[in-house]
Amino acid sequence: RHYSSEPSLQATEENGFKGHSMLAPFTAGWQSTDVHPLVIERSEGSYVYDSNGKKYIDALAGLWCTALGGNEPRLVKAATEQLNKLPFYHSFWNRTTKPSLDLANDILSMFTAREMGKVFFTNSGSEANDSQVKLVWYYNNALGRPDKKKFIARSKSYHGSTLIAASLSGLPALHQKFDLPAPFVLHTDCPHYWRFRLPDETEEEFSTRLANNLENLVLKEGPETIAAFIAEPVMGAGGVILPPKTYFEKIQAVLKKYDILLIADEVITAFGRLGTMFGCDMYNIKPDLVSIAKSNKLGSFAHGFTYSGHPVSCAVAVETLKIYKERNIVEHVNKIAPRFQEGIKAFSGSPIVGEIRGLGLILGTEFVDNKSPNDPFPAEWGVGSIFGAECEKRGMLIRVAGDSIMLSPPLIMTPNEVEEIISKFGDALKATE
Ligand code: PLP
Repeated sequence: RHYSSEPSLQATEENGFKGHSMLAPFTAGWQSTDVHPLVIERSEGSYVYDSNGKKYIDALAGLWCTALGGNEPRLVKAATEQLNKLPFYHSFWNRTTKPSLDLANDILSMFTAREMGKVFFTNSGSEANDSQVKLVWYYNNALGRPDKKKFIARSKSYHGSTLIAASLSGLPALHQKFDLPAPFVLHTDCPHYWRFRLPDETEEEFSTRLANNLENLVLKEGPETIAAFIAEPVMGAGGVILPPKTYFEKIQAVLKKYDILLIADEVITAFGRLGTMFGCDMYNIKPDLVSIAKSNKLGSFAHGFTYSGHPVSCAVAVETLKIYKERNIVEHVNKIAPRFQEGIKAFSGSPIVGEIRGLGLILGTEFVDNKSPNDPFPAEWGVGSIFGAECEKRGMLIRVAGDSIMLSPPLIMTPNEVEEIISKFGDALKATE
């Protein structure tokens, strides 16, 4: 069943569609934009409007990203001013632009979980993680440890879709048919307590078992071959999976013991979504950002992108962080999050809901039969998709991945908008049951 149950615009030549003109990311060919596209035309605060004028509350903030909502005038102004002044100059070598320098300073001063040295700009989360791998290899080459090159990531993680980022990701769909993961990437347990715990195992015992499994993997491979471990503080696209109690403490102890770097992938959790500025603050994670190799032996770090530190993007980002401070965005998240979490978790008793989990303004729900992680609904029923379609019918956009659904609304939501999401969630759930 097609997720987009109410085509807002038929794909005809009159409407500007020329058959298979666009292949949408993560979409089967038959679902692509030549069939029933939902065309979003404009946004206002927490809402978006389709080409028929229908209004939706954007309960996924674009794609986990529009934290300040759709059309914040100050960001439009910052972009316009920068476009008028200097639409582009690069940041290679010793040339750069003021917005890039300002943004790097702002980010360094905000990240307090551990003192960091440098910021390296890329254009996407996938590129950021690809760059992390290259930085870590560069670092170990500089230290004369050419064998220390393997990465450990976790099942169900999402780190992006380029060759390396997809390899790091622990989602089979990103590997199958692409000859991935690359051989230097290993995967360890997904820390999903509800799904993977043993009978009578406490959360702490579960974390201990996972840390032991990680240590066994390191020993089996040889610690001298393991360069880094990458983890999202809260797994996002894998279904909003929160770390169980004591998990990061125990994992970090193993990494420290074997001199393995820790990369925190904060693409979703940074900038307030969990109620702290960074996910690392929430879970006392002390990552190593390997943005500098203190050796001239290898010459310059020959890596970067033409649009690294693009002045317009940086100007918008600098203004965004100003707004965060002026409007106390993180405080606002902590004000509205308890009602958001409690309101939706109140639906946990539904016969089709296995688990509702979340923190701050991120939330995932898994649909199963008999309330058991071992009883998935038949895939062809498409329970997650039906729920997504029911939300869409009621004017709410969410994320569906199999029978997991996810919400990550804009951080600027008002209490009334929180109530709207809760009420639409409840109605869509009833209709799906
Ligand atoms: N890492 C995480 C944790 C993500 O959630 C995502 C995207 O959602 C990425 C990396 C990839 O980011 P991008 O789509 O910008 O390449």
